[in-house]
Amino acid sequence: MRPSVTSGTRTPSPGAVVSTEVPESGTLSNLSKEERRFEPPAGLAEHANLKAEAYERAASDVEAFWAEQAERLSWETTWDRVLDWDDPPFAKWFVGGRLNASYNCVDRHVEQGRGDKVAIHFVGEPVDGRPENQRAITYAQLKDEVSQAANALTDLGVVAGDRVAIYLPMIPEAVVAMLACARIGAPHTVVFGGFSSDALASRLEDCQAKVVVTADGGYRRGAASALKPAVDEAVVKAAGLGHEVSAVLVVRRTGQDLGESGWNDGLDVWWHDAVGGASTEHTPEAFDSEHPLYVMYTSGTTGKPKGILHTTGGYLTGTAYTHWAVFDLKDDDVYWCTADVGWVTGHSYIVYGPLANGVTQVLYEGTPDSPERGRWWDIIEQHGVTLFYTAPTAIRSFMKQGREIPDQRDLSSLRLLGSVGESINPEAYMWYREVIGGDRCPIVDTWWQTETGAMMISPLPGVTAGKPGSAMTALPGVAADVVDENGDSVPNGSGGYLVVKGPWPSMLRTIWGDDERYRDTYWSRFAEQGYYFAGDGAKKDEDGDIWLLGRVDDVMNVSGHRLSTTEIESALVSHPKVAEAAVVGAKDEDTGQAVCAFVILRDSAGDGGDDIVSELRKHVRKEIGPIATPRQIMVVPELPKTRSGKIMRRLLRDVAEHREVGDVTTLADSSVMDLISRGVDSGKGED
Ligand code: ATP
Ligand code: MG
Repeated sequence: MRPSVTSGTRTPSPGAVVSTEVPESGTLSNLSKEERRFEPPAGLAEHANLKAEAYERAASDVEAFWAEQAERLSWETTWDRVLDWDDPPFAKWFVGGRLNASYNCVDRHVEQGRGDKVAIHFVGEPVDGRPENQRAITYAQLKDEVSQAANALTDLGVVAGDRVAIYLPMIPEAVVAMLACARIGAPHTVVFGGFSSDALASRLEDCQAKVVVTADGGYRRGAASALKPAVDEAVVKAAGLGHEVSAVLVVRRTGQDLGESGWNDGLDVWWHDAVGGASTEHTPEAFDSEHPLYVMYTSGTTGKPKGILHTTGGYLTGTAYTHWAVFDLKDDDVYWCTADVGWVTGHSYIVYGPLANGVTQVLYEGTPDSPERGRWWDIIEQHGVTLFYTAPTAIRSFMKQGREIPDQRDLSSLRLLGSVGESINPEAYMWYREVIGGDRCPIVDTWWQTETGAMMISPLPGVTAGKPGSAMTALPGVAADVVDENGDSVPNGSGGYLVVKGPWPSMLRTIWGDDERYRDTYWSRFAEQGYYFAGDGAKKDEDGDIWLLGRVDDVMNVSGHRLSTTEIESALVSHPKVAEAAVVGAKDEDTGQAVCAFVILRDSAGDGGDDIVSELRKHVRKEIGPIATPRQIMVVPELPKTRSGKIMRRLLRDVAEHREVGDVTTLADSSVMDLISRGVDSGKGED
């Protein structure tokens, strides 16, 4: 089938930026314009789970709409009130309702006769040349394992309300442990397995975790790497902070030698003993709709991570609804989300949303390029993946390597592609669409946050004509808008602050243990209007569709023009030699701030040639306009990213302003900053 492109090329709109008039402070200059459109495939549109009428239906009675979505779940007791917003910003959803999240994700599918359906196709790392370890887990098996783990946690003294920390690699036990916690009403806090013992200790202390679930180690690029020693250190450090952990449950994954001091009989318990030996019978108890489900710490892109609290009924409603609507989920789909369970995406779109919907999904332990660079595409081919959800950072890294690699695989099973984590640059969108999606799969660019729990702004694949780079419109039931600094909705064609104008079921309930910080961070900026402030900048285009423009903290002010990072980065990425770009504002004597860009070149561009810097400056000038032209462009081998793959612009700002770089604890690879700083100091790449 031919793609349905309704109009042509990307055109710059210089008029928007050459004006010398100083725009009203508080609005963002609107720079680029995109005219490509991709209509939904006809077959998908015809059978879409959610059709255009949903927008109006939701708007006419939003509580009734959410109540209808909550019916997707199995409740032991139905709610008597959909929403209690009597004490904003503290919301209660489905008040009086009782349910068990684990029952909803597992047992009910078995009871409905789908026990033999595969829940998880686990794809493990190939280990030491042994045949790859793969495992298919049916819903019936998942029910048994979750029940065993719930019994084991209970035996370790965990009761409803106790917190359990989970520090595991991407193995099925991570999912099992989360669901076991939910089953007994013990909120989990999953800490990404790549974090240091310090990060783990501070989270153990912050949420006073009673038990830690971990593994001896995990596999990365075919080699075993230890995890347990970091837990041992963290337990000691947490004790130093005044918090005692009472047990550590250890999955044997690698069989690594833990050494004599690596096992503490008073604390440590093997998973295969405690869980393996437990009964597969466990009756899930129903909990209040507002019972805490988990605490998840944000990525820390903008500063110290915040412990975001999600509760049960509303969160499960939001994740199940969006997963069903935005992925247009059908019973025979094979779904794959490449996020780590240590991030909110893993919580909402590997565990709770998909499993509540009874999907078959792939769970992958390893990295995208090991044992070789086509690894992900092989998995898609092998498992016949139909719905694929990943991050722009991954897409750009594949663009860097070139299309030959995916072109060698059969990706024809795919029918829909998703993106999350950052704005997807139009160029990356087109590459994703053409090379991975064979020009036939719609792309859903989903905007949401740890705080929102579920997707908020996204195309609906059967309704929306997608535009490369735009997250398009708020989902039915969600009141997202772009406002100016007075809280007034900006007209089409203008930029401003992204807000949500009313509560939604999967919203965070507070920052763990800190109601004041919750109120200050999210609800004080537009307190008068009662809006949730997301911290992101956005614009509405001429059609009223929403484009995310990056963090408000990252907005640059150049000669009185407020410029966002995203559009200039996208202009750079649209140059054929560029794979990735990060833009920050640095102090400038003449213009207040100046645009500084850091770029990674595509493999095919080699070192870019002698004129690369002036070539790129010209390109930005042509694509956007003179005001956006970077003062300085640095070609770098890597960019500082968080462990969830987001670019940490605040560190680049430190570099651009020749300051000592700030907190790097959530950085994936801290040596990256040394490389970049050295480049800056030697003046290489400056213009
Ligand atoms: P912290 O709040 O600690 O700085 P973080 O905001 O990076 O960390 P997350 O909650 O994982 O932590 O990320 C949410 C943010 O990611 C959003 O606020 C937004 O900036 C960005 N984001 C997510 N999805 C999209 C998207 N589709 N388009 C644009 N930006 C996105
Ligand atoms: Mg954030």
